[in-house]
Amino acid sequence: MTAQELYIKLKNIRVGGQVCQYSLKKCEELVPVVNEILRLKKEKNAVILAHSYVTPEIVYGVADFVGDSYKLSCDVLNTSADVIVFVAVRFMGETAKILNPGKQVIVPARDPGCTLADSITAEDVRRLRQQFPDHAFICYVNTSVDVKAECDVCVTSANVYAIVERLPNDKIYFLPDKFMGLNLVNEMKRRKSSKQVRFWSGSCYVHEEYTEEQVFKIRLEYPDAKIVSHPECNAQVVANSDFVGGTEQMLDYMRKSPAKQFLMLTECGLSSRLQAEFPDKDLVGSCTLCKYMKSNLLEDVLQALKAPRQGQIVTIEEPARLKALKSLQAMFQYAQGAKTGVVQPLCE
Ligand code: SF4
Repeated sequence: MTAQELYIKLKNIRVGGQVCQYSLKKCEELVPVVNEILRLKKEKNAVILAHSYVTPEIVYGVADFVGDSYKLSCDVLNTSADVIVFVAVRFMGETAKILNPGKQVIVPARDPGCTLADSITAEDVRRLRQQFPDHAFICYVNTSVDVKAECDVCVTSANVYAIVERLPNDKIYFLPDKFMGLNLVNEMKRRKSSKQVRFWSGSCYVHEEYTEEQVFKIRLEYPDAKIVSHPECNAQVVANSDFVGGTEQMLDYMRKSPAKQFLMLTECGLSSRLQAEFPDKDLVGSCTLCKYMKSNLLEDVLQALKAPRQGQIVTIEEPARLKALKSLQAMFQYAQGAKTGVVQPLCE
C-alpha cells in the first residue's frame, strides 16, 4: 500500500481528535508499519479483525474484517488462518476464542478493559442466582467468558427484545448494563409483555455521557438531522432518537436513509466510518472516544503479530468455554429457532 492510497481512505475523517485525523505526511509515517503488518499477516497465516471503534488506520490499513464483536467472531468461524488478531478489547477476544477454540486469538490492546464487562464478575452472578433462583439470567455479549458461563442466554443489542419475549420464564435478570436494562423494561411495557425484568448496575462510560439536552440542542440546530443512538444510551436519549440499534444496525440505517445529516450517539469510530465510507452524508454534533478501544495502536498490532506477550494471548479453561458456548448457542436457539421451529447453526 502507498501513503497516497492510505490517505485517500482516511482523508475525510474529521472526528475523534488528533488521534483520528490524517494528513498525507502522517500517512507517509504510518505506511511502513502498515506494510510490515500486511507482510507478517501473510507469513504467519493470520487474520486481522477490527472493531468499528478502533483507530481508522487499523480499520482501513490492515483489517480483513470490520464490524461489531459478534459479527467479527462469526466472520472467522470457518477461517483457515492459524492466528486471529482481534483488535478490540479482552471480552471480544474471548468471544472469538469461545467460537474458535482451535485458533490462537490475540488482543493487542495496551488496556483491553471495558467499564461494562468489568462491572460484574462470575461470583456476582452466582450470588444473584441464589438471591433470585426463579429468574432466567440473560447476559449481554459485553461480558467476560466467566460471566457468560454462569448465565442461561447471551444476547446482543440486536436480538435482546425478541429473545426476552420468547423465553419461557416471566422473571428475567438482565446484566450488566443498567441503561439497556431500563430500555428493556420500557420496551416490554410497550409490547404489553408480562415479563418482569431486574437488571445489574453496570454502564459503558462512553454511551453514558450522552444526554437528552444534547439531543434537543441538535434537533433545534439541525431539524433535518436523523438522531441515531445505541441502546447503551440512557432511556431519555433512546426515547428521543429516530433510530436505536447496535453499531451494525446504526450503519445500516444510515446507509439506507435518504437523510443527509446524522448525529451518531456512540463511540467516535462509527462516525469515522460514516465520514470515510459515505462522504455524501454529513455528521453533526460531537462524539466520545473509548480509551480502551483506542489503546490498540498500529505498532501494537505489529508487535503482537511478531511476538505476542502472554497477556495479549486469550486463554480460556475448557469447562468455562463449554459453559459460555451454551449461553451463545441458546441465543441462536431463541433468536431463530424458537420463532421458526428450526434451530439454525451458530453464526448463520
Ligand atoms: S465503548 Fe463502552 S462497551 Fe465498548 S469497549 Fe468501550 S467501555 Fe466497553
